[in-house]
Amino acid sequence: MSYDLIIRNGTVVDGSGLPRYRADVAIAQGRIAAIGKINESAKETIDAEGHIVAPGFIDGHTHMDAQIFWDALGTCSCWHGVTTVVMGNCGFSLAPCAEKDKARVIRNLERAEDISPKAMEAGIKWSWDTFPQYLDAIDRLPKGINYTAYMGHSALRTYVMGERAFTEEATSEDLAAMKRELRGAIKAGAAGFSTSRNRNHETPDSRPVASRLANWNEVRELVGVMGDLGAGVFELAQEDIERDPERMRDFFGRLQRLALETRVPTTFGVVSMRKAPHTWRPYFQMIDETVAAGGRMLAQGTSRWISSLLSFETAMPFDRTPVWSEMRKLPLAEQEAALRNPDSRRALLEAAREYMTKPERAIGAEARKPDFDYLILFDKPLPPYRSIAQIAKEANKDPLEVIIDLALEKHLKQFFIQPIVNEDQELVLGMMRHPRSVVTFSDSGAHVSQIMDSSIQTHLLGHWVRERQALTLEYAIRKITFELASFWGLQGRGMIREGNFADFAIFDPETISPTMPTLEYDLPAGARRLKQKSVGIKATIVNGEVLMRNNEHSGALPGKLIRGPLAATAQ
Ligand SMILES: [Zn+2]
Repeated sequence: MSYDLIIRNGTVVDGSGLPRYRADVAIAQGRIAAIGKINESAKETIDAEGHIVAPGFIDGHTHMDAQIFWDALGTCSCWHGVTTVVMGNCGFSLAPCAEKDKARVIRNLERAEDISPKAMEAGIKWSWDTFPQYLDAIDRLPKGINYTAYMGHSALRTYVMGERAFTEEATSEDLAAMKRELRGAIKAGAAGFSTSRNRNHETPDSRPVASRLANWNEVRELVGVMGDLGAGVFELAQEDIERDPERMRDFFGRLQRLALETRVPTTFGVVSMRKAPHTWRPYFQMIDETVAAGGRMLAQGTSRWISSLLSFETAMPFDRTPVWSEMRKLPLAEQEAALRNPDSRRALLEAAREYMTKPERAIGAEARKPDFDYLILFDKPLPPYRSIAQIAKEANKDPLEVIIDLALEKHLKQFFIQPIVNEDQELVLGMMRHPRSVVTFSDSGAHVSQIMDSSIQTHLLGHWVRERQALTLEYAIRKITFELASFWGLQGRGMIREGNFADFAIFDPETISPTMPTLEYDLPAGARRLKQKSVGIKATIVNGEVLMRNNEHSGALPGKLIRGPLAATAQ
């Protein structure tokens, strides 16, 4: 017989964690048809000599919900070998919501996730009220990669309660209506239900997003809907426990009881913080205990710090001061002139120094006051890096002057990495080595001018596997493929097996790496975002069709909406 596509001479790392082997892989009708020595021909052949043939990567934590309407490809994730993403995390989804109320949903997303409201206004064609209608809209959109979507608590609450969602607890009628909507969403194929109880999630007017007004009983009842249906994953942005052991015990107890009484797979991000470097350990302990007692729980880790990318093109720590905010309104070239002028430079430095002595309140990924030991010169795609403190010490210069001079050398197109969490990379490695964690949490589609973590998969393979040799390739691939497919119930994905969907990332393990990010103004309404690509990926294949060759789009749009198990049209 003749196949649609054959990947020849590659080394298969199949996602299971088992050792690699040499084999050809044949694809027919979107599925893996044969693995081994293949003598037949195909319409198309890819020579993967010297390359790894891995399952397409899966990202369990994205916010592509708005972007999917204007970006069919699924950038920047699709440039890093990702072929399937879960969106609607942290309580933020665009449904349920009627078009006339969309400002409320946009308000939940705008500051908490840094997505331009103008881009959302211009870029999203609204054609739904309910979540099932929204899924149908996603189904119809052209897509490069595969998507599955949670119903977000903030949208759900706002849909049912209107403005009261931002100020009140739910009444029993509100709760009954929310449960009805959630039931309908899960039956239509929602990936699950997500919520945020985290102080980083605020609206532009500094109020909590709607889900944060919910008491625990509301969360319990809603997760219980999925427990009754036996479908859906629960994702949450955690409660703020402020390193208070009492609050931690209380929160862990509630979360554990909920996971055990409902049996709903439960997942959340776990990170370390330099000010409390070992708080991640009790999280893993709680997860281990929950699993030992029969629950399903998974930590969402990442492959490095989660950081703001500071620059004069995006945000700098001192932008809130009057002197800086005036200068920062100018075009980049004029900002450069101001920084080169001794008088204005002196005034800017003074304002920055004064700001350093004052308390501030930054949330999420907003630029914050720098600690120069933890402000990193981003001068190449992979570590090791030097901190500003180190550079200043070597040059015997003031760190603030160092920042300005380094930026000036690049005509202000210089990024600085400001880790918000996961400062210690050895602890990140410890978390990646834990069996109850995966590498995900790119936040792709969100924080578009603040964070660029769509590259965590290529960072994992370039830095930890190749350069540090701290993880085997087989282990690392499993952490970005099969473990996620398994937890989220993505049938037939995440592993190279005959009969499975033909999603692949074919890459050169000797060269795979992110490239340097850039800032571009290519969103709807000219809104800005950070962009980052990669090198070393020869081909990305989605549902049997080549989406990318050497990271250039082939023109095909083979992505699909993946519906949960209860959907009549489940695929
Ligand atoms: Zn999130």
